[in-house]
Amino acid sequence: MIDLPQEFLERMKGELGGEYGAFLQSYARPALKAVRANALKITPEEFEKISPVPLDGKVPWEESGFYAQGDSLGKTVLHAAGLYYVQEPSAMCAVPELEVKRGERILDLCAAPGGKSTQIAQYMQGEGVLVANEIDFKRYGILKSNIERCGVKNAAVTCQSPENLADYYQSYFDKILVDAPCSGEGMFKKEEAAVREWSLKNVQACAARQAKILESAHKMLAGGGRLVYSTCTFAPDEDERQIENFLRLHPEYKLIKTKKLLPHKVKGEGHFCAVLEKPSGERAEDFRLKAVKASDKKEFEDFKKGVISAEFKNIVRIGDGVYSLVDDFPAELKAGVKLGEVKNGRFEPAHALAMCLNNEEVNGVEVDEEVAIKYLRGLTFYCAEENGWRVVTYKGYPLGWCKVVNGVAKNHLPKGLRV
Ligand code: SAM
Repeated sequence: MIDLPQEFLERMKGELGGEYGAFLQSYARPALKAVRANALKITPEEFEKISPVPLDGKVPWEESGFYAQGDSLGKTVLHAAGLYYVQEPSAMCAVPELEVKRGERILDLCAAPGGKSTQIAQYMQGEGVLVANEIDFKRYGILKSNIERCGVKNAAVTCQSPENLADYYQSYFDKILVDAPCSGEGMFKKEEAAVREWSLKNVQACAARQAKILESAHKMLAGGGRLVYSTCTFAPDEDERQIENFLRLHPEYKLIKTKKLLPHKVKGEGHFCAVLEKPSGERAEDFRLKAVKASDKKEFEDFKKGVISAEFKNIVRIGDGVYSLVDDFPAELKAGVKLGEVKNGRFEPAHALAMCLNNEEVNGVEVDEEVAIKYLRGLTFYCAEENGWRVVTYKGYPLGWCKVVNGVAKNHLPKGLRV
C-alpha cells in the first residue's frame, strides 16, 4: 500500500469518523480504470461489441463510460482512431451535470488534457461552440491533439489565463466547467508525484488559485447560466468551503447540488463537483463571423473531388490555412476544423480533417491491424489504389492521411503522433 501523508490521514480521519477504516482500505485495491466511448464516432452499444480492451461494466454516472482493464488502454489502433478516451471513472461525473444542450456556448476553463472537453463535445454533437482553454502551453498542445483525435468539429482551443479570457468573453457562456487545478488527493494511487507534492501549504495555495479562477468564470457566465466546479481532491478548503466562499461573495447564485464521490463508497478514485446557477440577466450578443468569400473555398473544393464527400460550412482562408468555422464566432479564433493548407497553389489536407470524417464520407484505404500499426509508426505501405491523397481507415475509422504514389502509400501522419 502507498505511503500517504500523515496530515492528510489525520484530516480524513476527523472528517470521516466511523468510515475512515473503509476509506483507508480502498487504498489496498488497485486504481480503477475506465474508458468513454466517443459518441461523435460510435454509440456505446456498438463500442461494447468492438472494444479492443476488456470492459467490465458501465460507469453509472456517464452513459458512454465503461470500466476497463489493462495497462495499455491508450495504445490500441482504435484509440488512435479516436473511438474512445481513457478517463478515470469518477472524473466522468462532472460533465453530465452541465446538462449540455446542443447549440449552447460552453467553456471548459481548465481543459487539458481534454477528458472533460471531449466528453462535453460528445453531448454537443457539433452544434454550438466549445471553448476549451488551457493555461499551460505544453498541456495545451496535448489538449489540441485529443480534440482532433476525437473528431470535434466545433471547438476553439485556446491557451490563456482565466483573467485574459474574462476580458474577452464577458457574460458570454451558457455553461462553464471549472475543473480546477487541485491538490489531487484522488490521484494518490495513479501519480506518485501527487503524494510527494501534497502538503497543507499546497492545499491552501490551490484553494487561493481556485478562488481566482472562479471569479473569472463568474464574469464569463451569462445570466441564467450554469457553472460546474470540480476537483479530484477531498480537501474541504478546495471543495465545500471553496463553494461556500464563492456563495458568500456572490449570494445571487443558487447552489443546485454538490456531489462527493469517495473511493470507499463508489467504484472510482474520488471527485468533488458543485453545480451553481446564475440568476437570469445579461447574455452577450453573438459574435459575428466575417462574410465568407467564395474564393476561399476553391482549392479545398478542387481537392475534395473523389477524395471525400463530406460537406463543410463557413469555409474560411486565414493565411495559408483553410478552416470550416462555427457560425457566429470570430474567425480569428478558428473555432471549428482545420481542413488543410494551401502550399504553392495546392491543397494539403490537415490531420484534423481526416479525424472528423466518417467512413461514408471518405474514399479511403482500408487496412488491417498489421498495416494500421505500421502506419501509426510512420512507415509507408504497399497500396494498389490510384495515385493521390487517401484517408487510411481501420475497421472503417479514419487514422490519418496517406498519399499514394505508384503503388506506395506515403505516410502523412503528423510526426508528433507517430508511435
Ligand atoms: N479538465 C481536464 C480533463 O478532464 O482532462 C483536467 C484539468 S486539470 C484537473 C487542471 C488544469 O488546470 C491543468 O491542466 C492545469 O495546467 C490548469 N491550470 C493550472 N493553473 C491554472 C490557473 N491558474 N488557471 C487556469 N488553469 C490552470
